[in-house]
Amino acid sequence: MSTHHPFVDGEPRPGSGGAAPIHDPATGEQIGLVSRGSAADVAAAVETARRRFDEGVWRKATVRRRRDVLRGIADLVRRDLERLAGLESTNAGKPIAAARGEIGAVAATFDFYAGAVDKFHGQTIPGNADGTLMTFREPIGVCAAITPWNFPMLILGWKAAPALAMGNSIVVKPAELTPLTALALAELGLEAGLPPGVFNVVTGKGSEAGEALVRHPDVRKISFTGSTEVGAGVMAAAAPDIKRVSLELGGKSAGIVFADADLDLCVESSIAAVYDNAGQDCCARSRLLIERSVAEEFAGRFIDRARTLVVGDTADETTEMGPLITPDQRETVERYIQFGIDEGAKLACGGERIGQVGNFLSPAVFTGATSEMKIVQEEIFGPVVAMSTFQGEDEAIRLANDSIYGLSGSIWTRDIGRALRVARGVETGMLSINSSSSVHIEAPFGGVKASGIGREQGMAALDHYSEYKSVFIANG
Ligand code: NAD
Repeated sequence: MSTHHPFVDGEPRPGSGGAAPIHDPATGEQIGLVSRGSAADVAAAVETARRRFDEGVWRKATVRRRRDVLRGIADLVRRDLERLAGLESTNAGKPIAAARGEIGAVAATFDFYAGAVDKFHGQTIPGNADGTLMTFREPIGVCAAITPWNFPMLILGWKAAPALAMGNSIVVKPAELTPLTALALAELGLEAGLPPGVFNVVTGKGSEAGEALVRHPDVRKISFTGSTEVGAGVMAAAAPDIKRVSLELGGKSAGIVFADADLDLCVESSIAAVYDNAGQDCCARSRLLIERSVAEEFAGRFIDRARTLVVGDTADETTEMGPLITPDQRETVERYIQFGIDEGAKLACGGERIGQVGNFLSPAVFTGATSEMKIVQEEIFGPVVAMSTFQGEDEAIRLANDSIYGLSGSIWTRDIGRALRVARGVETGMLSINSSSSVHIEAPFGGVKASGIGREQGMAALDHYSEYKSVFIANG
């Protein structure tokens, strides 16, 4: 059985923190061993990244070189798309068709930032003093990227591509459960022409490798995606050194369905927005708020469709939903389903284990949910939706905002004026109207309130991987 090692300075380097097995969530089978990086291994990786940054081979590379290398990574990801999709499907329990889509999006991310390299720059600024004022946009230094298990390569692409575009060095700490595609991406970076030591990956536990990375004094910026609880700890740990921090955290996004919505479109799209990735999606519309007059009809149609979702074999092209990531995660979701029942919501369908192997659970629908229930307030991270009803725009906005989170959301109505009024009223980082699409590489992605700080994607991400330097040149 293969053992996967941290990737530092352009080569695999066995971690000194022992080894841990990784599994296929669909079968429970062990698919490999991963050696864990210790604090010492993290220190070695950060020092390498720092040395490479100081040497300046990548930092001072021409914009054309940086553009070509990022474009090269995109091409290599496309070349290896089937292999990478297979790795992601097997390691993260994704239906193969969905995994392919994610890997394609990684290539698109590198394409976008290859194109952005020469379009993000400083300015000359009119000033009162006798001279010229200008700004440079400079790389920050060593950037740490800490990623979760739900979209392992996609989310890493959102961090690595803009960080590298600006000339930084990176040290990645992938989720312990799903490190394979991060290691593969670092290797592809080297093949595309990144200098060794610019893109490093330290596998291992969050409480060891992750913690050591966050606290290392030579790390100048941390980009973290994960739970709100761990994100808050990362922010606190970054404070003593005043490290730059961006956080993409949890969500409990609302889909708001008005009576005049195109219900056929809305049901099909909302099903995907709830159950894609088995609900392990920070942008999942896991609360559905439905205008009272269509609530029964909408719920009926939604439940009928949820019952027909194809759940199972992740290698099958027709599979729509895979397993939960671990047996523990499935038990957590089951606990929430019991909370929902105990708190008085109606479990209309689903929530049952499927098959003898793997962490499968059938898509669950609760109706009659109300704001004080745990299933409405807390991020379950599983295939469970809580439906509530409302009357009119004001109540829809009030219910949507009754959450500590503010990541994504949808509004379904044919009335464009209402759609925009409600969009302005909902406290969230992203919204889609008559759609469930949250991810557009061209636009900023991120949350408000407990869903995070900072933005990934779009030109906005480049702000987070660069510093302004203002320079004044006196006349004469
Ligand atoms: P997690 O917070 O448990 O772990 C995320 C990463 O942090 C992992 O790599 C983990 O090893 C590391 N980590 C854990 N403890 C650490 C510590 N003390 N110091 C440094 N690093 C540490 O999250 P998860 O269970 O992997 O992912 C699920 C969560 O991620 C959900 O809450 C989900 O909403 C969130 N998420 C958010 C977004 C977004 O863009 N907003 C996207 C995907 C997932």
